[in-house]
Amino acid sequence: MTESETYVSVTVRVPAKVNVQLSVGPARPDGYHDLANVFLAVGLYDEITVTPADTLRVTCAGPDAAQVPLDRGNLAARAAIALAERHGREPAVHIHIDKDIPVAGGMAGGSADGAGALLACDALWGTGASRDELLALCADLGSDVPFSLIGGAALGTGRGEKLTELAVTGTFHWVFAMAPRGLSTPAVFREFDRLGADADIPDPVASQAVLDALASGDPGALAVAVSNDLQPAALSLFPELADTLAAGRAAGALTALVSGSGPTTAFLAGDADSATVIASVLRASGTSASVRTAEGPVPGATVV
Ligand code: ATP
Repeated sequence: MTESETYVSVTVRVPAKVNVQLSVGPARPDGYHDLANVFLAVGLYDEITVTPADTLRVTCAGPDAAQVPLDRGNLAARAAIALAERHGREPAVHIHIDKDIPVAGGMAGGSADGAGALLACDALWGTGASRDELLALCADLGSDVPFSLIGGAALGTGRGEKLTELAVTGTFHWVFAMAPRGLSTPAVFREFDRLGADADIPDPVASQAVLDALASGDPGALAVAVSNDLQPAALSLFPELADTLAAGRAAGALTALVSGSGPTTAFLAGDADSATVIASVLRASGTSASVRTAEGPVPGATVV
């Protein structure tokens, strides 16, 4: 038995993300869209624990657990299978997900679980995969999975999976309002295509203003620079989100936007105290299912 195989179980903590830029290009012939994504990892976490078992099994706990598939379609299960296949072994693990990231919320919760399971199985099995190998496996699992592994802040191009790490000064304070139901990411992209059917959609490029605001740590500058091309599509499918956005702006948010494909809404605060005030006003407004504060950037998937 090698030293790494003496682990009884391994737990990995993985953060959610918010997109401070999400620029979407025209639909490609393969149906995907080229993106210019600026991801920021924020402090809402799923914890993935893997334990040796006779066969692959997935369990999940947390407020949204009932919506999480427990079969081999779960991204955490797919990650374990992919790593096991690559290293010629059986994916014989029990994967337990302690889920705090909203499901189908536009915060890359499934992607976080995929990246977390990959790192956890690598540690449990002692496969010793290099970071590049893990990143390549992540990219096969989904566009947002590589970012969940690295965390921090990064520019994603291609389908969002080609990452360049970004420098950030200080910490940005956010409030997130979770919606009472989810939105399917493919459905939001279809709505984006429908709404833009007659428009000439440019190729997406990174916003220098967003990159500068992150580098300088200036929330006021970031607030004017943020953008999300999927927001009109998310609002079209979920019009009530406009009320939540308005309530957060009225409570003092520097900016309010839909997180990724939604329906979670994100509010940038000037500081931690302001975030606390915005969160309590949003809770009292009754426009969302739950409200959380979180800071970013935070590190990506980490063995705890
Ligand atoms: P993104 O921000 O990357 O677009 P999302 O946060 O909107 O994703 P997820 O929470 O990742 O959405 O869930 C999308 C769908 O993926 C779920 O409805 C569920 O059917 C499926 N899924 C597969 N694995 C998982 C997982 N581990 N956790 C949550 N959902 C999962």
